[in-house]
Amino acid sequence: MSRFWSPIVRDLTPYVPGEQPRLEGLLKLNTNENPYGPGPHVLAAIKAEVEDGLRLYPDPTAERLRATIAAYHGLDAGNVFVGNGSDEVLAHTFKGLLQHEGPLLFPDITYSFYPVYCGLFGIAYRTVPLDAALQVQIEDFAPDAGAIILPNPNAPTGSVLPREAIERLLLAHPQAVIVIDEAYVDFGGESAIPLIARHPNLLVVQTLSKARSLAGLRVGLAFGDRPLIEALERVKDSFNSYPLDRLAQAGARAAYEDVAWFEDSRAKVIASRRRLEVGLLALGFEMPPSAANFVFARHPRHEGAMLAAALRARAIIVRRFDKPRIADYLRITVGTDAEVDRLLAALEEILAEAG
Ligand SMILES: *Cc1c(COP(=O)(O)O)cnc(C)c1O
Repeated sequence: MSRFWSPIVRDLTPYVPGEQPRLEGLLKLNTNENPYGPGPHVLAAIKAEVEDGLRLYPDPTAERLRATIAAYHGLDAGNVFVGNGSDEVLAHTFKGLLQHEGPLLFPDITYSFYPVYCGLFGIAYRTVPLDAALQVQIEDFAPDAGAIILPNPNAPTGSVLPREAIERLLLAHPQAVIVIDEAYVDFGGESAIPLIARHPNLLVVQTLSKARSLAGLRVGLAFGDRPLIEALERVKDSFNSYPLDRLAQAGARAAYEDVAWFEDSRAKVIASRRRLEVGLLALGFEMPPSAANFVFARHPRHEGAMLAAALRARAIIVRRFDKPRIADYLRITVGTDAEVDRLLAALEEILAEAG
């Protein structure tokens, strides 16, 4: 606290990202990064850009990148927005599209950045409880919604809704902007992007941080009808005209060109997720089925805090949220098969010791 602060700073509750510790032999399963590095085509594109000279500003509208991504999805470049990670894209979305007379609605258990943006931008919100099985129920979103945002698959549960359920939500709220945050869609979800043509109130947000393995490059995306994209552009150009540097634009474009690498790495992650789920079930854990690159599991006889601390003592870090309903759950990122096996062996040992 300081008298030099603007008043709003005093009242902020900032998001706390998963830790990035530097520890010998650390197994990091806490922030849903991809265990496989980006492909050689991406690295070559970034290196070429370095040699091209960083003296000049990047393209402020990232036109070539947006054209590449639009073509990949069968859209026009005008339907694509890019930003410095999807967290920045979400920030512009909250600022530019989610403040209305009715409250913003989102699930009670969801990406914990959403209430933080509401605090920063002064947006009134209401949470909608997940059902007893930790599933989103579309019918529970009340008609007074000024706007709605939800991740699909949801975080941190990993549960997914079919595209048909998203369309029901859109049809029930034709006057409200609906944002679907698809950070994990490539691990088992159906994207809502094909619905954009029929629903001018739909914005789909994606990231290159998870399935495309570029968390360190910071590239996020939004897809929507032209007026929604224009709102994001207006906010962006009132905040930072150059959110994506030259390396990010070149690397991201190469990531969309290398379809084979993308398909191979996500198939490996999906196979290792099955290995992780089977192993956890055998140890007595319970979890909703996951369509993401993590699982959300609890043990009926052991506290989440104990399990997380015991894993940490073995240099394995997972994520736990000290919140009502989910304090006993561990959110465990899917690693390579070898990493999954190391985690399962550690849990087996911990459970044996705890009795
Ligand atoms: C990881 C994640 C993001 C943020 O991704 P970045 O593009 O790395 O900022 C956004 N939404 C959800 C639900 C996420 O899990």
